[in-house]
Amino acid sequence: MPPGRGRIMTELLEDGPSGIDRAARLLRAGRLVAFGTETVYGLGADATDPRAVASIFAAKGRPSSNPLIAHVADEAAAFAEVEATGLAEILAAAFWPGPLTLVLKRRADGTVCALAAAGLDTLAVRVPDAPSARALLRATGRPVAAPSANPSGRVSPSTAAHVLAGLDGRIDAVLDAGPCRVGLESTILDLSGPVPRLLRPGGITLEALQAVIGPIDAAPIVAATASQALSAPGQLASHYAPALSLRLDAGRVSATEALLAFGPPLDGAGLVWRLSDRGDLGEAASRLFSGLRVLDQDGQRLGLSGIAAMPIPGEGLGAAIRDRLARAAAPRPDSVR
Ligand code: AMP
Ligand code: MG
Repeated sequence: MPPGRGRIMTELLEDGPSGIDRAARLLRAGRLVAFGTETVYGLGADATDPRAVASIFAAKGRPSSNPLIAHVADEAAAFAEVEATGLAEILAAAFWPGPLTLVLKRRADGTVCALAAAGLDTLAVRVPDAPSARALLRATGRPVAAPSANPSGRVSPSTAAHVLAGLDGRIDAVLDAGPCRVGLESTILDLSGPVPRLLRPGGITLEALQAVIGPIDAAPIVAATASQALSAPGQLASHYAPALSLRLDAGRVSATEALLAFGPPLDGAGLVWRLSDRGDLGEAASRLFSGLRVLDQDGQRLGLSGIAAMPIPGEGLGAAIRDRLARAAAPRPDSVR
């Protein structure tokens, strides 16, 4: 809950000029507004206002050691906050607007507050491509800090209804831009060190990035414990946690399990969510978080014992899907359950 505020009325705003104007006014007044992007719904606050940013951490129950991504309307606004490098300019030209986040050195004259960057000397920036999000950022005229709009550790939201399921009464508004096109978070690439490093696979594939800039260090950095996570913020192994346990790369399924199917579903499950019958990774990505929610809720209602996920290939968008499933399946601290 935002500091000093009890349960509040969450406005549901329609996508369109008046909803966007209302959302921008709320953001400029330091309020919390969730909004749809092409990746997932973000929980936005004015990134230049430390009180507004503090209320993001409070509403999500997110540790303030975990930095936020600053969303901006265009490349110029991004490079006003972080120091451009040759690679950053090439990547921005190739992939912005779009689901790529770049981590770069913060500029001394940048406007984003230290809290949004969790006190680091780097900042994560992104220019989203969803028309509604771009219009909102233009109308707000300031960088908007926006982590995924879900309680910390839970499954990310890809519709306005998912946002309300987790945060109704804790945030000021949701701008309903319909279901998210990509449905998975952005790819995060760290350009602040000597070699470009993949911090999170996401909506832009590693192959697409490498085709533009060459070699990228893509060794997974999954920290198993909170103390290890301090050196790799946000890389906690357990995330996206459904209440039911999740089993990966299942070759068989029992009647007491819910099945997350990729390709033609295995026979015998107690409940099935089809990610993509034809094995299309883009379709599967866009249906992943809805599927985890439905299988978790309906599976519990039916008294099922867990979720079994069929194997997903590791190339292209499959890498990001496998990453999210591995985190959803990871042993989790009691606080996340
Ligand atoms: P979310 O806001 O839920 O999409 O997650 C954003 C991710 O970006 C988290 O994993 C953060 O740890 C990561 N991130 C944001 N800023 C930085 C930064 N300056 N350096 C490294 N990772 C970052
Ligand atoms: Mg998140």
